[in-house]
Amino acid sequence: MNARVFTGNSSNPWAHSVRVVNGKVVALDSEPDGADDLIDAGGKVVLSSFGDGHAHPVFGGYEFLGPQLKGVDGVDGIVESVGRFAAAHPELEWIVGGSYESWLTPNGEFDARWLDAVVPDRPVVLRATDYHTVWCNSKALEIAAITAETPDPALGWIVRRPDGSPMGTLREWDAVDMVMNKVPTYSIDDQVRAIEIACREFARTGITWVQDAWVDPPLIDAYLEANRRGALSIRFNLALRADPRTWRDQLDWFQEARNRIGSSDRLSCNTIKFFADGVIEGATAAVRDGYTDDPHNHGMPVWEWDELRACVTAVDALGFQPHIHAIGDEGLTESLNAIEHAQKVNGSASHPRPVITHVQMLNPADIPRFASLGVVANFESLWACNDPLQSELTAPRIGSEREMWQYPIRSILDAGAPISMGSDWPVSSQNPLECLEVAVTRMVPGDTSIGVWNPAERISVTEAISAYTAGCAFQAGLENTWGTIEPGKAADVIMLSNDVFGIEPHLIHTVTVERTWCDGVEVFSHNDVA
Ligand SMILES: [Zn+2]
Repeated sequence: MNARVFTGNSSNPWAHSVRVVNGKVVALDSEPDGADDLIDAGGKVVLSSFGDGHAHPVFGGYEFLGPQLKGVDGVDGIVESVGRFAAAHPELEWIVGGSYESWLTPNGEFDARWLDAVVPDRPVVLRATDYHTVWCNSKALEIAAITAETPDPALGWIVRRPDGSPMGTLREWDAVDMVMNKVPTYSIDDQVRAIEIACREFARTGITWVQDAWVDPPLIDAYLEANRRGALSIRFNLALRADPRTWRDQLDWFQEARNRIGSSDRLSCNTIKFFADGVIEGATAAVRDGYTDDPHNHGMPVWEWDELRACVTAVDALGFQPHIHAIGDEGLTESLNAIEHAQKVNGSASHPRPVITHVQMLNPADIPRFASLGVVANFESLWACNDPLQSELTAPRIGSEREMWQYPIRSILDAGAPISMGSDWPVSSQNPLECLEVAVTRMVPGDTSIGVWNPAERISVTEAISAYTAGCAFQAGLENTWGTIEPGKAADVIMLSNDVFGIEPHLIHTVTVERTWCDGVEVFSHNDVA
């Protein structure tokens, strides 16, 4: 009661109270009766909790189990943190940490010797915030048997010194896995602990549904165990990753995993993840006309495009939702082609909504295809500003015309396509109030000095909130379950510290989530954080 309830229902957007019974919204604006447990919102804004349409919860949780590198200042600060953590944990065979910012060094190249200075005797491997790159010390290179004679793998790239010896930076899966495959796997207890940490971090920022965008087989057991222990305080849908080389053999596993997960209020497994390409800053995103600073390089597509079409068609026929990472213009065109092909081959039966995620550098000619094919465009809007990653690494690689093709949120929305929001946490902050500020301002949160970037693609606060709530519910196929505050829907609700609709747009990131409820149960309260 005594709330400014934004319902998300356009014909009746505001209410002053919400009645919840057994975890469900049953009425708006009803008068209290004596049996009610009343919560006085003190006039604060209450809205549907957020979704996160693309995140990596377990990786995010793992970061809390190793040296904390997020937000650490400079290479020296990172090296120091790693040294301190290693000294405090003599029992660990490997030091595994994340995640560092690639833009801290020219071309994102990091040297093994810098880590050798603090940890010479044990292997160290650190993930970059893009999660497509690692930086390791000499011991880790030695254990992985990576030397000057090691050729680059098919889908990966060993950064080298002028004499051909490995520098310590590895890009893309095949190269990254040469080291990561040597790291001992986390125990089931550590995996469940990572999921619990993720639940805490999401709930504290108002998120109660998460698309886990990459699940390999062991994590199925971890999620099932977390659910069995009652540790899932919020909802998850899992995406199984299709491998371009083995996907035909994976189809049985996909169905088996879906059956094992089943479908409960907190856990489902309806989605197959594809990587169409890499990232622009690493020059691995698939670009039609080549990179401006290296015109013969068209990136590193992860799939042969006819194989991508075949696999998307196969999983669509099995009733799975494709969720395709596409960053470069060619990656995006081919992802749309694959979805179009699946719809042609499988007919117009009601297949799960396809999702293309990141939608970074989109050829304007492809904008209408999201609406015509019914593709959900999932944006990580925090990236849609002129931050150092954009100005130092991305823009120089694509030139000024294609720079303005990036993150066309307004254009996709105006073309009539469904959009949703996400964070890619722990790649970047999961806090929706930071992310939606950027969708509205196209400026770096908290820094108005850099100026507005690509302003034609800005959207309104209401549109951004809708994409973060109802848009994510639509992506999940749960638009009848949550995403707006209406009778019959789950009481997935948050209360905010300030009026997100009235505050100056460049201050939206200062608004905090005070309380979060999932199914009517409070899963976060700012009062509990001392
Ligand atoms: Zn991701």
